[in-house]
Amino acid sequence: MIKTIAVIEGDDAAPEAMRPVVQLLDSLNMGLEWTYPEVGEVAEERTGSAFPPAAKAMIDRADSTFFGSTSGKTGVALNYLRWGKETYANVRPCRYLPGCASPLAQPDGIDFVIVRENLEDLYVGVEGPLEDLAPLNLTGRTIRKPVHQVGEGRFAIKAITREGTERVVRFAFELARKRNGKRKLTCATKHNMLRGTDGFFLEVASGLAADYPDVAFESFIIDDFACRMIREPQKYDVVVMPNQYGDILSDAAGGLVGSLGLAASGCFGDDYAYFEPAHGTAPDIAGRNIINPTAAMLSATMMLDYLGFEAQARQIEAAVARVYAEGVALTPDQGGEASTTAFCAAVGRAL
Ligand code: ATP
Repeated sequence: MIKTIAVIEGDDAAPEAMRPVVQLLDSLNMGLEWTYPEVGEVAEERTGSAFPPAAKAMIDRADSTFFGSTSGKTGVALNYLRWGKETYANVRPCRYLPGCASPLAQPDGIDFVIVRENLEDLYVGVEGPLEDLAPLNLTGRTIRKPVHQVGEGRFAIKAITREGTERVVRFAFELARKRNGKRKLTCATKHNMLRGTDGFFLEVASGLAADYPDVAFESFIIDDFACRMIREPQKYDVVVMPNQYGDILSDAAGGLVGSLGLAASGCFGDDYAYFEPAHGTAPDIAGRNIINPTAAMLSATMMLDYLGFEAQARQIEAAVARVYAEGVALTPDQGGEASTTAFCAAVGRAL
């Protein structure tokens, strides 16, 4: 079974995490082929476009894309992977591996997944000056005059659709089934303040619960959930939420277990998925070979699952867990002194 993976290494320190992970996967000889679409500044210099048609075609031909974090012009490719491919479910696991530098006194047993709606909410990208809203003459619940008369200011559209909510919530219910752990889905929204949008998200989610009688369903106001996630993270299994909350809370969840450098991520649509570490490009540590590649490595194991290499994915996860348990080849964000390369070599040996 040959599978093709398009690799976009990303910017700043991201390639330093991506390259050794690709090497590690490649060394397992499981029939993976790697292609490298040229995007961003390099592509722009050569072709005049930061995302030339050849790069798009390579992504389309590949079975999946492995994406390093980007800043700047590589982002066009990311927009294509996300909105172009309609990858609506951003899956961000939060699992504590003994040996990781969690700030919690009792992090053992943390194992939940945030499923973040990935396309809608405030990220539809419609913003503008308040005065543009004059023709609508909108009055809110809390202000006493039409919103365009409040003064100079800006607005952003928060869009929550039935279809967009249904598909991500169904994805989350199915994931709770597949994980076969606590079989629980938690929905977190700000439905008390944003009744029309978050209230709608919750209404749609609650309505679907009847289709999944084997999965317990509960909901919390997002700020309450944020507190619960820190106080009792072991209680959660799968948590679904609108885009912006998921963006923020999944980074916070990465902090709970030790670092953003541990936070893996996969974005799933109905017919495509891409995988990327949840952290940014870490520009402050670029060129030093100390970026923690765990997030990239665990994103890669999610990709292996998606491509049907479950056994290899479990082996890599077990090897990563062993390296953390041994605690001798950890990167500086985890309190160690090992380089990125040394960490990956240790995982290779554990394999
Ligand atoms: P973005 O806006 O793209 O999320 P950012 O600069 O806000 O980017 P990150 O790039 O994630 O955020 O970096 C935040 C901090 O976390 C930086 O100090 C960075 O060095 C650190 N960091 C992020 N990822 C890792 C990693 N994999 N290993 C070690 N440190 C990391």
